Amino acid sequence: MEVQWDSPVTAVGGRHATKLAQLPGIETVGDLVGTYPRQHVAKGTLSQLDELVAGDLVSFVGEVASARQYTYQDKRTRRTAYRLEVRVRAEDGALLLTYFDKARHTADWRKDTELPVGRVGVFSGKLKWFRDEWQLTNPASRLYEEGDDAVDTMPDLIPIYSSIGGITTWQLEETIDLALSLVDRVPEVLPPAFVAERELVSARQALRWIHRPDTRAQKALAEKRLKHDEAFVAQSVLARRRVLVEATVANPRPGRRGGLLDAFDARLPFALTEGQERVGREIADELARDHPMQRLLQGEVGSGKTVVSLRAMLQVVDSGGQAALLAPTEVLAQQHQRSIEAMLGELAQGGMLGGAEHGTRVALLTGSLGAAARRTALAAAAGGEAGIVIGTHALLEDRVQFADLGLVVVDEQHRFGVEQRSALGAKAGTPPHVLVMTATPIPRTVAMTVFGDLDTSTLAELPAGRGEVQTTVVPIRARAAWLERAWERVREEVAAGHQAYVVASRIDPGDDEVVAEEPVDGEAPRTLYAVDELAPELAAGPLAGLRVEVLHGRMAPEDKDRVMSAFAAGEVHVLVSTTVIEVGVDVPNATVMVILDADRFGVSQLHQLRGRIGRGGHAGLCLLVTAADPAGPSMERLLAVAGTRDGFELSRIDLEQRREGNVLGTQQSGGRAGGLKLLSVLRDEPVIADAREAALDLLRADPELVGLPDLAAAVRRLEDSEQAVYLEKT
Ligand code: ADP
Ligand code: MG
Repeated sequence: MEVQWDSPVTAVGGRHATKLAQLPGIETVGDLVGTYPRQHVAKGTLSQLDELVAGDLVSFVGEVASARQYTYQDKRTRRTAYRLEVRVRAEDGALLLTYFDKARHTADWRKDTELPVGRVGVFSGKLKWFRDEWQLTNPASRLYEEGDDAVDTMPDLIPIYSSIGGITTWQLEETIDLALSLVDRVPEVLPPAFVAERELVSARQALRWIHRPDTRAQKALAEKRLKHDEAFVAQSVLARRRVLVEATVANPRPGRRGGLLDAFDARLPFALTEGQERVGREIADELARDHPMQRLLQGEVGSGKTVVSLRAMLQVVDSGGQAALLAPTEVLAQQHQRSIEAMLGELAQGGMLGGAEHGTRVALLTGSLGAAARRTALAAAAGGEAGIVIGTHALLEDRVQFADLGLVVVDEQHRFGVEQRSALGAKAGTPPHVLVMTATPIPRTVAMTVFGDLDTSTLAELPAGRGEVQTTVVPIRARAAWLERAWERVREEVAAGHQAYVVASRIDPGDDEVVAEEPVDGEAPRTLYAVDELAPELAAGPLAGLRVEVLHGRMAPEDKDRVMSAFAAGEVHVLVSTTVIEVGVDVPNATVMVILDADRFGVSQLHQLRGRIGRGGHAGLCLLVTAADPAGPSMERLLAVAGTRDGFELSRIDLEQRREGNVLGTQQSGGRAGGLKLLSVLRDEPVIADAREAALDLLRADPELVGLPDLAAAVRRLEDSEQAVYLEKT
C-alpha cells in the first residue's frame, strides 16, 4: 500500500501505529514524522552537567553501579513507601537516579530485576538539585538485556522522544523509522530558488537527519532546513493577511475640528506624555487613510494606553463612526466603562439632559447583563447612539450589530487571537481599523512572528508623578516569621489610608495541588494558598479589624462588580484575589501587594500584577512570598522580577524560562504557537527576518500560492489550527 504524507497514521502499519493514531495531534503520517526527538543522546553526555540548570532534561547512556532501597512514611496516606537510589555511571561521570514506589513488590522488582548492578541503559529525565547533587526522579529508561549486542551496536546518537500518552520513546522511534521508509513523497514547502540560494538540504533528507543523524553536523543541517520551513510557513500566513489588507479599502476617519476629541483634550486634567503624543499622531494619520489600520500598541502597565485608545475612538466618532473596545474579562470591561465615562464626563451623555451638545454614549455589553439592559445596549449599538461600545466576548455574538463600526480596539491582546479580531471586523460594512493593545512587552522577533501582520507602536515612558514600586522577595522557607512582617506592612499601609491586594494562585483549597510531589527531606507536602481559605484566616488573624473581601473568576459577575466597585471606592481595605486583577485594574489608592506562592506565577505575570500598585503617585510595595528553594531557579526568577522594572527584559527572561528545550537539544512540543517546533523566536531572528521578506514578495506575486501547492497546503493547515485554537477558547 502506498503511504502518503496525508495518509492516516494507521497506513504505516507496524506494531504501534494503531495506538499512536489515537493520540491527539497525531492523525496523519506527516504529523507522526513531524514529531521530532527532543534530543539525541550519545555516550558521555554527562560531561555537560556543569552547564545545566534544574528542570533541564538530560538523557545519557550508563551502567548501574549501585542501588539502595529505603523506606519512608508517605505523609498523606501514612503508609510505608519505597525509595530506590540508583547510582549510574556513564563514561564521563555519574548521576543519582531516585525512584519512588508505593507497593513493596514493585519496589523490589525495580531493585532486583529492572535495575540490577551492571544493567546498561539509556536514562532520561528532568534534573533536580537535591542534597548537594544532581539527580533524576523516576526517569524514563530503555534498558538492555545482559549480553545484548545492542549495547555494542548502539548508534552514536540515540533519538529520545517525549513519551506521550503511554507511548515510549522507543515505540515512536520504530514507527517513525517505518513511516520514513514508506512515505511516497515528502512535501517541499520552500520555493526551489530559496532552497538553492541558502544551500539547504531537501525536506526528505532533513526529516531523516532530524530523527536519525549519524553526526551532530547532520542534525544541525536538518534543523537549519526545518527552521526555515517553519519560519516560511508562519510568515506566509501573516504575509497573506497583510496582502489582503493592502488590497482592502476602509473608510477614512479623519476626525473633525471642534469635535469630541478637541473637547476631550481640553478637559484632560494632565498633559499627554511625549510618547502618547507621538503614538497618537501615528494612529490619527492611519485612521485618516483608506486602508484599515492594523496596529499593535505596547506599553507598560500604567503607561497610558487607555487614553491613547480613547482619543482614537473619539476621532472615529467625530467622523460619524463607532468604536468597539474588546476587553478580556468582565471586570476589566466594567472598569473600562467606568473610567471612560469618568474621563468623558458630560461628553458621554449625548442626547441626555445636561449632556454636551456633540456628546456620544458609552454602552456596555457583557455576558451577564440582564435582559432589559442588554436590549438597551444592543439598540444603542445598532442605532448608532452609542459611539463607544465596550464589552467582552459577548461583543462577538451574531446579534450584536453596529450602525457604522469604524474602529476595533482590543485590550490586552494575549487573550484574543486574530480570529476574534476578524470576527468583530466582520460586523462592519467595510473593514474597520484595528488597534490591539498589550502591556506584555513583546521582543521584536516575537512580534514579527506572532503579530507579523501588525505594525507596532510603543509607549516607552510612564506618565510623570508615578510612584516607585519596590519589590521584595519574602523567602518564608528560610524565615517563616517574615510572613508576619508582610501582614504588618499591610496593616501599616491601611493605617496610612491606603489599600492592599493579596494575591493567591488558587481559588479554593479543594483545588488540591500539592507543592512537593514526593516527600522531600522530611518536609510535609504543603498545599498552595487559596483565596477562599485565606481571606477568612486573614480577617480573623493577622488582618483582624480590616475589611477584607474576595475576588475571583468563579464568582457571579454581579458579585465581582460589587466587590470591585467597593474596592475602587475605598470601602474595602484588602482585596484577596486570584490573577483576575492582573490585567488593567486601576485603583490608585492601593499601595501594597502581597503575592503568595509567587513562584507559581510567570515572570511577566508578576510584573503585570505589581503594575496594579504605585499608580496614584504613592510609593508602592510588592512582596513576593515564596517557599521555593533559595538556591533554585524559581528563586532566581523572583529575584529578577525584584531587580528590574524593565518589562522587555522580563518578558525575555520569561520566554527563555518557558523554552522547553535545553542545552542538549530542542524539546519537541506540539502545543506551541504558529506550529513552531524548532524555530526559536528569540534566537532565530535572522531566519525569521529572511522568511518574512521572501514570503511577502512571494505572496504579493502569487497570493493564492498556485505555484507552490505544498506551501499552500501547509499554510491552510496552520490557519485551520489557529482557527481550532480560537474555537476551543470560546
Ligand atoms: P494602561 O492602560 O497603559 O495600563 P492607563 O491608560 O490605564 O494605562 O493609565 C493609567 C493611569 O494613568 C490612569 O489613571 C490614567 O488616567 C493616567 N494617565 C494616563 N496618561 C497620563 C498622563 N499623560 N499624565 C498623567 N496621568 C496619566
Ligand atoms: Mg489598561
